[in-house]
Amino acid sequence: MPRLNENYLNLKESYLFSEIAHRTSSYAEKNPEKGAQIIRLGIGDVTRPLGKTVLNALHEGVDAMASAETFKGYGPEQGYEATRNAISAYYRKNGVSIDPEAIFISDGAKSDTGNITDLFGPGNVILIPDPVYPVYVDTNIMRGNEVTYLSGNADNDFLPMPDKNQHADIIYLCSPNNPTGACYNKTQLTEWVEYALANDAVILFDAAYEAFVSDPELPRSIFAIEGAGKCAIEFCSLSKTAGFTGTRCGYTVVPKELKFTASTGAVMSLNAMWNRRQCTKFNGTSYIVQKGAEVVFSEEGIRECQENITYYKRNAKVIADTLTALGIRFFGGINSPYIWFECPNGMDSWSCFDYLLENIQVVGTPGAGFGENGKNYFRLTAFGTYEKTLEAMERFQKLFH
Ligand SMILES: *Cc1c(COP(=O)(O)O)cnc(C)c1O
Repeated sequence: MPRLNENYLNLKESYLFSEIAHRTSSYAEKNPEKGAQIIRLGIGDVTRPLGKTVLNALHEGVDAMASAETFKGYGPEQGYEATRNAISAYYRKNGVSIDPEAIFISDGAKSDTGNITDLFGPGNVILIPDPVYPVYVDTNIMRGNEVTYLSGNADNDFLPMPDKNQHADIIYLCSPNNPTGACYNKTQLTEWVEYALANDAVILFDAAYEAFVSDPELPRSIFAIEGAGKCAIEFCSLSKTAGFTGTRCGYTVVPKELKFTASTGAVMSLNAMWNRRQCTKFNGTSYIVQKGAEVVFSEEGIRECQENITYYKRNAKVIADTLTALGIRFFGGINSPYIWFECPNGMDSWSCFDYLLENIQVVGTPGAGFGENGKNYFRLTAFGTYEKTLEAMERFQKLFH
């Protein structure tokens, strides 16, 4: 009999999306007429199609496979040079200098934020925000790691800051945050970088929503902060920024200067370790997908992505304006597709879910699914259509006015 990884016994069952689906469909069955009126503002998936530029490049990628002269087999595990260069140029445009050799193309940020645990041994003090994207906590539990939570709450605008009296080895940050939409400013990220350098810690920075940052004062990359090259890894994704949730592409930046001393005294480079890890366990992102990804970072590609982001942000503004008018306290919604509101009338997040479903047939995501601190909050997303978002907010107005 195999001895199993019994750490899996310590995982909390993720009831979130199945429970949402279950409650929604059982309501619709019992109330067919109202069920037909349901508006879904809970999805964490994009809905706008890919842009023309990307589609053309994807088609070119497919066509290249049709003849022996241009056919591509296994590619470099790190990603094609052209794609890495395009990403490096994109960083440069945003004022950040990144060596293309620090960039690793992947099939998405979920895999990389999970797989990165391969680089770390046992016994680390690991800080993870609460609430946050559940992948960080679950992948650490799978390895049997203990997690220390960084409390995000209304008092700190869901942007927890370092406690200088507490040591840390590994720090996860997600900005703009899923689910709260909160985004760290330069001063705050500088404090985190200084804390990491002082502790000889590494920051694992999830920037999956960087393209939603429109305030030029807010950093879109941890590497916009001085010293971050010595203490941070950044995870990015084309999923939410370029509509690649189904196409699959992300990239991870592991700077070459990111080095730590092993117990043997050997100096270990995280860039070299990640390279080794990827070459051993990953055979590269599809050539076709990388062709499409490359042009996401072209002038035309960026313009097309921004059109979709502008569309989503108009939805976010409709939601934010409605909640403001109703006096419902919320976070996010400006530099993020997420709006995180405090459940009215002291409801907990699941009661709020039922209340919205039964009274106005609007489905969202209960905050409890993202951590203890989410239990009185509710997430709405801007990924729906403009028309449905407007209608949902009209219903909100009638319900809470
Ligand atoms: C959606 C999301 C990702 C991952 O996306 P991929 O589709 O795997 O690239 C990563 N981090 C956060 C916070 C997300 O919300």
